[in-house]
Amino acid sequence: MKVVNIDTMLKKGSKLYSIFKLKCPHCHEGPFFEKSLLSWKAMGKVNSKCPNCGNSNNKEPGFYYGAMYVSYGLGIALFVTIWAAFTIFSPNYSWVSLLVTLVLIQLLSFPVIYGLSKIIWANFFIRYKK
Ligand SMILES: [Zn+2]
Repeated sequence: MKVVNIDTMLKKGSKLYSIFKLKCPHCHEGPFFEKSLLSWKAMGKVNSKCPNCGNSNNKEPGFYYGAMYVSYGLGIALFVTIWAAFTIFSPNYSWVSLLVTLVLIQLLSFPVIYGLSKIIWANFFIRYKK
């Protein structure tokens, strides 16, 4: 059986490295976002140019509209995870408690999902160069 090592997956040069470390998809050195992912004020603001390599993170106007599809997928994954946790750990849950929990967690995780969807989308189109 092959064991997947998280350090191997997060090696510089892999897209997962850029996504989980929030680094520029081009050089994997400079920060991708202007501020922290958890900041509500600068939510999801991407550095227009990487401070390290100068690569443009805005390839064209409206480039990040496509991140909506990624955000939708992440939202569904979060929904299914919460629903599965309710079903496994509290099989007699009420729909109201599930709904309230879903709304609260979706609202609180919005900045992170918004930012992650942008960096995942950017990694689809920006290639790593040493
Ligand atoms: Zn860069």
